[in-house]
Amino acid sequence: MKLDHKVCIVTGAASGIGREIANTFAREGGKVVIADLNLEAARVAAQEIESSGGTAMAVAMDVTNEDQVNTAVAAVVAAYGGVDVLVSNAGVQIVHPVEEFPFADWKKMLSIHLDGAFLTTKACLPHMQSAGKGGSIIYMGSVHSKEASALKSAYVTAKHGLIGLCKTVAKEGGKHRIRANVICPGFVRTPLVDKQIPEQAKALGISEDEVVRKVMLGETVDGEFTTVQDVAEVALLFAGFGSNALTGQSLVVSHGWFMQ
Ligand code: NAD
Repeated sequence: MKLDHKVCIVTGAASGIGREIANTFAREGGKVVIADLNLEAARVAAQEIESSGGTAMAVAMDVTNEDQVNTAVAAVVAAYGGVDVLVSNAGVQIVHPVEEFPFADWKKMLSIHLDGAFLTTKACLPHMQSAGKGGSIIYMGSVHSKEASALKSAYVTAKHGLIGLCKTVAKEGGKHRIRANVICPGFVRTPLVDKQIPEQAKALGISEDEVVRKVMLGETVDGEFTTVQDVAEVALLFAGFGSNALTGQSLVVSHGWFMQ
C-alpha cells in the first residue's frame, strides 16, 4: 500500500477527478477526507469508500472561505491526528470572451482556483511541519497551466498561477520534506466538461460534436479524452513519492496535447 495510514485531504472530491483520486488513495490505504462545497455529495462519496472497506470522512468546505477551510482542517486533525497529503482540486469553469467577461465571474474564478489553493495550503502546512514527517501538496492544474484557449481567460490565468504557487511552496517546503507539484490534465469527461460543450458550441458557432473533436481533442495524439483514472494515477505518484527529488514540478497528462 503506497499511502498506508496517510491522511489525505482532497478538495472538490465529491465529484469527477477529485472523487476518483479519493477512491484511489483509499484503496492504497490512505485515510481520505472528502472536502467539498456539496456536503451531501461528499458524505455519499465517503460512505462509498467506507462500504468498500476504506477509511474516509466528509467535511464541508468552501475553499474560498478562510474560516471554513481552517475549521475543516482542524476537524480533520482532531479526527485523524494530522495531515500528510493535500490535493487542492476544487474548481469550476466559466467561459466568455475577455470583453464580455463579467468582473464578478473573473473574481469568482480566481478565488476558487487561487485563493482556494493558497488557503488550503496555508491551513495544512503548520500541521505537516510540526509532525516532522514531510508531506505532499498537489495542485490540480490543467494543460491550461501551460497553454491558452479562447474564452478561458480567467481559467488560464488561474491555472498558470498555480505553477507559481507550487514552485514557491516547494522551495519553502524543502527543509521540512514537504513537496509540491502540479498535475496538468487534458480534457476529462466530468460534469465540469459536460457543461462546457454546449456553452462553447454556442460561443464559437460550431456543433457540439465539433467542440469535442476539434476544440477539446484536436491536438491530442489519438483523439481520446484523458480519464479520471489517468489523473488519479499521477496523483498517487506525487502523493506517495519517497523523497524531495520530485518537487516543484508540473506534469501534463493529456494524450499528447501540449508537449513540453
Ligand atoms: P467537477 O465539476 O466534476 O468537480 C468539481 C468539484 O469541486 C465539485 O464536487 C464541486 O462541488 C467542488 N467545488 C466547486 N467549488 C468549490 C468550492 N468553492 N469549494 C469546495 N469545493 C468546490 O470537476 P472536475 O472536472 O472533476 O474538476 C476538478 C479539477 O480538475 C478542477 O480544478 C478543474 O479545473 C481541473 N481540471 C479538469 C479538467 C477536465 O477536463 N475535467 C481538465 C483539467 C483540469
